[in-house]
Amino acid sequence: EAKTRGRGRLAFFDVDLRERTQRRLRLEQDLREAPRNDQLWVAYQPIVDLRTGRTTMVEGLLRWSHPRYGLIPPGEFIGLAEESDLINIVGAHMLRLATRGIVDLRAAHNPELLLTVNLSARQLDDPHLVASVRDAMRTTALPPGALCLEITESALMRDPTAAARTLAALRDLGVRLAIDDFGTGYSSLAQLLTLPLDILKIDQSFTAGLGKSDDAEAIVTSVIAMAHAVDLTVVAEGVEHVLQLDILRRLGCDQAQGYHLGRPSAVPELDRRF
Ligand code: C2E
Ligand code: MG
Ligand code: MG
Ligand code: MG
Repeated sequence: EAKTRGRGRLAFFDVDLRERTQRRLRLEQDLREAPRNDQLWVAYQPIVDLRTGRTTMVEGLLRWSHPRYGLIPPGEFIGLAEESDLINIVGAHMLRLATRGIVDLRAAHNPELLLTVNLSARQLDDPHLVASVRDAMRTTALPPGALCLEITESALMRDPTAAARTLAALRDLGVRLAIDDFGTGYSSLAQLLTLPLDILKIDQSFTAGLGKSDDAEAIVTSVIAMAHAVDLTVVAEGVEHVLQLDILRRLGCDQAQGYHLGRPSAVPELDRRF
């Protein structure tokens, strides 16, 4: 009897695996067509200055509305795209969409509003990256200083020398650079300081610990101190509660982002003050 049950479980697992493999293949094919089929769009999440309470920046987050599977989270399709050159196609399309979008948001709300966009590790290796950033800014007439590009700590550390070269070329265009999800990798801040960065984004896992553990507060305090010592602007990610906001303000954090301040949306609330 145990044997039958075991076999049944195995068959169930096989079906599950086959379905997941099929979905993956299908998604990969469909993602290639997604830009042409107008299935990709951008959600903008406000980033708020903790001193003035004003939204100074929005992070553009890519969204995919799939005709069969519905809204697919970037956590699923970005990873898929990163396994091939697809990420460069999707990334270049994202840049065009988001730069167009920020031009409209600046006209409607605040002419000084900045845009920040995520780059994946593989895009850093793309020889066309710098040209596609330049093209997106030219086409939309967006001033270079209005664009910031975010790179995660782990992407930077994959090949620090190559990353440094690409970042320098992007900096030459006048764009700002941010390190994303800081604290989740294994790099030392000393290593990162050799890179031409403007913004440090503290990962949401640290924000989540504020008000709950003294360790989280101690870590955030020292990250802010080190970042400020080298003139980096500090943004805390994942602020979900007003208590976290109060603590971040007390610790001297510059800016914050999170559901408490505003959800990512195609039509973000930008004029709300905190
Ligand atoms: P990220 O760059 O760290 O973006 C922040 C993520 O945290 C977003 O998830 C955002 O919706 C979510 N978030 C914001 N506030 C809160 C909060 O208060 N609580 C919680 N729990 N989460 C919050 P999203 O949009 O699902 O994106 C996930 C990741 O996918 C991003 O993390 C980024 O690494 C990647 N991604 C998104 N768009 C792009 C893109 O255009 N290109 C690349 N390469 N990666 C992208
Ligand atoms: Mg980001
Ligand atoms: Mg992040
Ligand atoms: Mg993240």
